[in-house]
Amino acid sequence: MIPVKGYAAQTPETDLAPWNFERRDVGPHDVQFDILFCGVCHSDLHQIKNDWFPGIFPMVPGHEIVGRVVKVGSHVTKFKVGDLAGTGCLVDSCRHCENCAQDLEQYCLNGSSQTYNGLEQDHKTPTYGGYSNSIVVNEDFTLHISEKLDLAATAPLLCAGITTYSPLRHWKVGKGHKLAVLGLGGLGHMAVKFGVAFGAEVTVLSTSPKKEADAKALGAHHFVVTSDPEQIKAAKNSFDFILDTVSAPHDFNMYLGLLRTNGVHICVGVPPEPASIHAFSLLGGRKSLAGSGIGGLAETQEMLDFCAEHNIVSDIEMIDIKDITTAYERMQKGDVRYRFVIDIATL
Ligand code: NAP
Ligand code: ZN
Ligand code: ZN
Repeated sequence: MIPVKGYAAQTPETDLAPWNFERRDVGPHDVQFDILFCGVCHSDLHQIKNDWFPGIFPMVPGHEIVGRVVKVGSHVTKFKVGDLAGTGCLVDSCRHCENCAQDLEQYCLNGSSQTYNGLEQDHKTPTYGGYSNSIVVNEDFTLHISEKLDLAATAPLLCAGITTYSPLRHWKVGKGHKLAVLGLGGLGHMAVKFGVAFGAEVTVLSTSPKKEADAKALGAHHFVVTSDPEQIKAAKNSFDFILDTVSAPHDFNMYLGLLRTNGVHICVGVPPEPASIHAFSLLGGRKSLAGSGIGGLAETQEMLDFCAEHNIVSDIEMIDIKDITTAYERMQKGDVRYRFVIDIATL
């Protein structure tokens, strides 16, 4: 076994603190890489707080992981020692169900292995995430990271990037479309960058008036303050798509009213409580309410390659691991510009 230093929540009530654990030895198809940076996703906070379901504790969060390969198994062909490598939200899946067969491992019908707060494919061994100094992952679930981009700013692409890229590609959002990005946080700011790169006319819908200048600097064409009834009235019937990245309860019926006929409201944010949606909000204008979860391995690599080609990374604020609780508190208040990334050297 390989000794690893990490940061863990021991229970949903306790703050994260140093915790040492072990990872499996490098198997024939495994890659071991030293973690250099790990992004902080709002899902980390939801999960250590049991917002969605009872978690597996101790929990080492982190699924926006980048680093450098230090060891490869005897059968590994895709990586060599010294390569940059990354891992997102998945470390394995059944690989044979109809979704896995279509490169949709995130929707594995037999249960994919989440990078943390999950179980390996033996359905027994808990997984531990990227708030740690080393990880062992099967090469098929390890991503190639470009040397061209700033490495720390690349880490958030592994979740915030793919989670917004995948639905925009699936619904073929681009030139001629009006896209609204609801919530300007980690996912939202990546959605703006991709929406603009794909040629859509992008509006940010935000609760934070002070984010307007940032939204425009990110490339957004318009900005709507959602607490202002006049601005909401003016935005009615105007969007083809809303990409909803909000982490807290919000009024879906109001936002569905902003869609044009045949418009699609795509949920990627996962508030802890279920929403109440009136059928009238959907049937007037034949609207759709949809959802999307992260992305498969092939699409994640496609997104990383797209970002390398178009020089797209996340806007980050680097933090020391000892400041993680303060970062969570700020994230909870919407005060994130626009992704915290942990410098793992501080561990
Ligand atoms: P984040 O950085 O905290 O951003 C969320 C943003 O939502 C905030 O910055 C804020 O933007 C807005 N917001 C927060 N509270 C709000 C409220 N009460 N009403 C309206 N807007 C509010 O979070 P994130 O890391 O981007 O994650 C966003 C959500 O996506 C989380 O629920 C996370 O678990 C989920 N997620 C889902 C997937 C997936 O596969 N579908 C993957 C990753 C994350 P403004 O200040 O602009 O209003
Ligand atoms: Zn995430
Ligand atoms: Zn499967």
